Amino acid sequence: MKKNIILMGPPAAGKGTLAKKLLQKYGFVHISTGDMFRDAAKEGTELGLTAKEYIDRGDLVPDDITIGVVNERLHKGDLGNGYLLDGFPRTIHQAEALAEMVKGSSSDIDVVINLECDEAELVRRVTGRRICRNCGAPYHIETMKPKVEGVCDLCGGELYQRADDTEEALKNRLKNYYTQTQPLLDYYDNLGLLKSFDSLKGSDELFEEICEFING
Ligand code: ADP
Ligand code: ZN
Repeated sequence: MKKNIILMGPPAAGKGTLAKKLLQKYGFVHISTGDMFRDAAKEGTELGLTAKEYIDRGDLVPDDITIGVVNERLHKGDLGNGYLLDGFPRTIHQAEALAEMVKGSSSDIDVVINLECDEAELVRRVTGRRICRNCGAPYHIETMKPKVEGVCDLCGGELYQRADDTEEALKNRLKNYYTQTQPLLDYYDNLGLLKSFDSLKGSDELFEEICEFING
């Protein structure tokens, strides 16, 4: 089944974890702008170094850069099973640019999934989050501990805290989310594409509901 999906939600609502499960089940191509920027930063490319300055402060990377990266990715010719856009679009300008890119093509958007989560829970999740430096797997210092502290269960890589997962940077990310990204929910709702889900639900139940919506 081919579907083109946008995954939305505030920082740490659980987009990354959900994305992983959806990719396993459906074989979509995962397009995560956050991952692409972090990979580029790790490689030390010009794009990566520029993006890192914004990311570490919790600011949004400028639209022209972000839109360029996604546009290039969408045209690689490997989207036969559809895509899962994770972390893009985040501004109205990005959403309009995306609409232009895919309009009338087989890459047009089928559904938009929104994960809802209250702010206290986001803060708890983000400040406790640790990520594998090697494979990107997420952990939490209280609720998703690795078997050995500081070491990834999956690949043995080192776990670290993202520079933008501090309380200070998170405040900024949330502010940007409320002012710039949340208005997109109305935008996609008006197009009849949006459905919101409670990210606090048990993960199996949530996953099942989301699959039903996708299969719909
Ligand atoms: P989260 O959803 O937890 O904030 P992401 O990995 O999606 O994490 O994004 C991390 C950072 O990368 C963002 O805070 C922002 O600086 C940058 N970024 C990712 N996607 C976009 C985007 N669509 N537009 C602008 N900046 C982005
Ligand atoms: Zn790992």
